This record gives sequence, C-alpha cells and structure tokens, in this order.
Amino acid sequence: MSSTPVSKLAATALTPSPRAIIHLTDGASTDSYAAAVREQLALLGEDPEREGLLRTPERVAKAMGFLTQGYAMSLEDVVGNALFEEEHELYSLCEHHLLPFFGKAHVAYIPNKRIVGLSKLPRIVEMFARRLQVQERLTEQVAKAIEEVLEPRGVGVVIEAYHMCMMMRGVEKQNSRTITSALRGVFREDGKTREEFLHLAYAAR
Ligand code: ZN
Repeated sequence: MSSTPVSKLAATALTPSPRAIIHLTDGASTDSYAAAVREQLALLGEDPEREGLLRTPERVAKAMGFLTQGYAMSLEDVVGNALFEEEHELYSLCEHHLLPFFGKAHVAYIPNKRIVGLSKLPRIVEMFARRLQVQERLTEQVAKAIEEVLEPRGVGVVIEAYHMCMMMRGVEKQNSRTITSALRGVFREDGKTREEFLHLAYAAR
C-alpha cells in the first residue's frame, strides 16, 4: 500500500522543476540552512516540532535557495547576444528584513551596435532581483548590466515596488509604492528622450 500509482504520480508532480534547483553557497546544504531556520523559530518562542512547523525549515531553505538563485547566474549565462522597452514583473527580497518587495520594472534602451532578444531583458532583471537587495541598487545594477552588454546610446530603468517590510510593519500606508530610476547616456543627457521614457513608464502604471 505504500506506493500506489496515484501517490507516485503525485510525487512526480511535486518534484521541483530544474528552475527550482537550490543555489545555496557551496559550503551550505539545504540541511544546514534548515537547521538555522529551526533555530530561528525556537528563538521566536515557537515549537519547531509542532506539526504545522515540522517541515517549515526545509520549505524555507528550498524557497530561499530559489529566491536567491540570481547569485548563481552570470550575465553571460543570461544574455547570449541579442533587446528594447518592456515592463516586467519583479519579485525580490529586501536585504534589511529578508522580506519580499515586488512590483514592476520598466526597462528601455536605445541600441547602438548590439540588440538583445526580448526574452533576455526579464532574465537580466531576474538575475539581480533574485538576490538580497535594496531597490536602489537593483535599479542601478540592471541599468549597468544593460550598458555593459549592449553599449547602447542610452538606458533607462524605472522600478516601482511595494515592500512587505514596510507594509506589514505599518511603516507606510498599504498603497505606498517606492519608485527608483536609473538613467544613463541619452536618457540622462537628452531631455526629450528622458521625458518620453518616463512618460511611458509612468503611464503604464
Ligand atoms: Zn526591508
């Protein structure tokens, strides 16, 4: 009775996809990460052995591995050689509280020599978002990466995000959004290009 076809099927469905592979540092295993989470729970006054929490450390270890997989990616992995203006969903973790912030990234560039396939832009955003971050740095990193790879005439990145660490702690109103931008090249120098991009980015909200 231990492994009916039905339970086998269910187990297969629960096997993580390759994308969900854990990317903890070489020295760390899911087990050691889970042990640290178990200790955190105890420090919070919780009973890590109670049923609801029993598998939480392992789940958190896996989730954190997934949410920080950007550390294991390089720009070369992410960008082959082919880009433009797009809006991307963004999910990241605030490095001060290890809580999510999420929203949209507006990315635009004006090509010079090289262009990149559209699918690459979200992957660049993801590579930096799936790390412990602050929104300002994330915005700069995305702009810098596009600049490095494409040497475009200009890059513009606007990120608007909601921070759970602020919302859940009542630091800010539920609807307050943090907006950051990084403008380079003609996006900084040319008033008309800048206006155009910012208008597009803000109008898309
Ligand atoms: Zn925070």
